[in-house]
Amino acid sequence: MDDCIFCKIIAGEIPAFIIHEDEESVAFMDINPATPGHVLILPKTHIRDIEELDEEQAGRLMMVAKAIGQKQKSALGADGFNIVQNNGKAAGQTVPHFHIHVIPRYAGGPQVAAWTPTSPTREQLSEIYIRLKD
Ligand code: 5GP
Ligand code: ZN
Repeated sequence: MDDCIFCKIIAGEIPAFIIHEDEESVAFMDINPATPGHVLILPKTHIRDIEELDEEQAGRLMMVAKAIGQKQKSALGADGFNIVQNNGKAAGQTVPHFHIHVIPRYAGGPQVAAWTPTSPTREQLSEIYIRLKD
């Protein structure tokens, strides 16, 4: 896609620190990392978000995410890692080319992807449950 910054990185038109590339995916360092070693993984084909992702792509990208998380632990000394994936502006997606964040976590490090827990009543939970379940 012409005006997509991630397509431009994939095409080599914009530089990035690429740490992994295969036929279908590419992984590079996030330019504004949440913690040192924050990596983005994306399919080379331009798809907007998870709603356009197929099962095979999803499986392969998740295996790349797993390998990168393990590398963050072995090479950077991370104590764990978060896999974060935003869909839509309301969810914080700023680049509309599907991507998975792999964010290394270090003991005592900053909070990542935190939310404020709420305390709905059982009735309120049940009302949402009825709308969501199969
Ligand atoms: P989103 O908010 O869409 O889930 O995540 C987009 C991510 O892309 C952000 O974490 C942001 O720092 C990163 N990003 C945006 N533009 C660039 C860029 O030009 N190069 C790199 N390496 N990362 C970028
Ligand atoms: Zn794109």
